[in-house]
Amino acid sequence: MSEELPLIAAIEAGGTKFVCAVGTGPHDVREVTRIATTTPEDTLAGVTRFLSMAKSKHGPFAAIGIGSFGPIDLDKNSETYGYITSTPKPGWQFTNIVPKLRERYHVPIAWDTDVNAAVLAEFLWGAGQNTDPLIYITVGTGVGGGVLINGQLLHGLLHPEIGHLLVPPPHNSTAVQQACHCPFHKSCVEGYVSGSALASRWGVKADALPPDHPAWEEVADVMAHALMNLTLSLCPKRIILGGGVMSQEHILPLIRGRLLKLNNGYLRVPELGRTIDDFIVAPGLGARSGLLGALALGKYELDRHLNDTNSAPIV
Ligand code: ADP
Ligand code: ZN
Repeated sequence: MSEELPLIAAIEAGGTKFVCAVGTGPHDVREVTRIATTTPEDTLAGVTRFLSMAKSKHGPFAAIGIGSFGPIDLDKNSETYGYITSTPKPGWQFTNIVPKLRERYHVPIAWDTDVNAAVLAEFLWGAGQNTDPLIYITVGTGVGGGVLINGQLLHGLLHPEIGHLLVPPPHNSTAVQQACHCPFHKSCVEGYVSGSALASRWGVKADALPPDHPAWEEVADVMAHALMNLTLSLCPKRIILGGGVMSQEHILPLIRGRLLKLNNGYLRVPELGRTIDDFIVAPGLGARSGLLGALALGKYELDRHLNDTNSAPIV
């Protein structure tokens, strides 16, 4: 059945690991590998080794889709298009990704953020099907968010940087380290609730914080501020919360409760009332949304390349 569909190479470029795959869609992923994110040279060498192996085993791929940690350069007229740019990750500032792959593989290459890739996959196959505008936020080692709006992934000045939305500092905090953990901002979401921020703030790894720990009230408060601002500005029909920190079962109900309080009856819609459980949701694709999103990006880039604009309404 899937024989006629073109094979796509997908790369989810994360700060901890690069996950690479070849396949034709969510039900036909033929090969997956994980490569630790060490130096750009070693990591990219691992990627090209995998792609060459996959090519000889499964045949040539027709396009490559990449969803990357950021910030990244998405401006096709820029000299650094296809680069990871001002990331705080040591050794990865201004890393050439797309031009390097293009030298080697003569196929269309799609390039977007890991979270824009994830929101696309959730829209196509996961918890956000036919739901537009749709937002996907991951709270893991860092915090990031992607936005699909009016059938397009949101790009503009750059791309959404939801992790760095500015929020009030947690009220009456008892954290051992109270300062915002972000090197750029005094009071942003990532600086308070990323896995790294939680570990430094409370002196305990996020996954070891028990459900009744005061840290979770703060996480809920900070996240609810971000979600309120996003709801007011982008009018999403649904917001998906993924990543390791959001995998705690009790956190989504806490966030929903805070969000209702912050709304204070202002937006009178069911989503901010009796149907809030369908408004703030967990990912439908689990941890696969980034990788499947990269695959979807590759598919759309190929369609665009083949000038079949009717079948490429997204991205
Ligand atoms: P990454 O962000 O590296 O892609 P994850 O989304 O898995 O990966 O996030 C990793 C972070 O999430 C770590 O800081 C880890 O401590 C935290 N984490 C993982 N699992 C849990 C959990 N069950 N509860 C709370 N925090 C968790
Ligand atoms: Zn910040």
